[in-house]
Amino acid sequence: MAVGEAPIYNSGEDCQPDWKTAAAGYNEADTHLEIMGKPVMERWETPYMHKLATIASSKGGRVLEIGFGMAISAGKIQECPTLTVHVIVECNDGVFDRLVVWGQAQSHSVMPMKGLWQDVIPTLEDGSFDGILYDTYPLSEDSWHTHQFEFIKGHAARLLKPGGVLTYCNLTSWGELMKGAYSDITNMFQDTQMSHLIAAGFKEGNITMETMPIQPPAECRYYSYKEMIAPTIIKD
Ligand code: SAH
Repeated sequence: MAVGEAPIYNSGEDCQPDWKTAAAGYNEADTHLEIMGKPVMERWETPYMHKLATIASSKGGRVLEIGFGMAISAGKIQECPTLTVHVIVECNDGVFDRLVVWGQAQSHSVMPMKGLWQDVIPTLEDGSFDGILYDTYPLSEDSWHTHQFEFIKGHAARLLKPGGVLTYCNLTSWGELMKGAYSDITNMFQDTQMSHLIAAGFKEGNITMETMPIQPPAECRYYSYKEMIAPTIIKD
């Protein structure tokens, strides 16, 4: 198997029990974050992260972000002039420490919340957010392609105010699907994401998608397709 072809998760592999305390492996150049050997975040994604951040903060107000990583999307959310509160949920100890330091240096109020979103999110009030950006990482082979739906079905519509906006991605899943199962990213989204969004209570007419060109580096282990897709999902 050539470098880059090894699967991100092996059959039955589960990182969740150790993820919290595993080292947050930021490289010296601050271009890559690895945890438990997984490629969690890479700086070349910046234009796409900025797109998702722009969507999530397009209504201003209170924005919820799930997964802090390298603060690429978080930094862009902070540029929104009408942002009032930026709640960020992160479960890895080392990444969370970085979030706390980062949060103190921002111009808009940052509220870091530590833990798995599965534990933290149920404590947040209904109808309390204008925007949500969900970008975590699959913590097991089992949840590789589906973890986003667990959040979206359980909480996204409940947390948003009417007119609020959700955006999200799961590039570890989408990159894999675009390696073989699909040749068109809009078809991939329609086939594998749409029915879950509708089951979560969002109306099809309130879901739009934008594709953007992107240049993943040849050595990237989770994404090689030349486009990404950014959804905008509005709560009625
Ligand atoms: N959008 C970020 C990248 C996020 S990387 C950026 O622009 O830099 C994904 C992050 O989600 C990682 O920091 C990982 O530790 C965190 N994460 C993964 N699963 C999680 C969970 N269940 N709850 C909270 N955080 C989680």
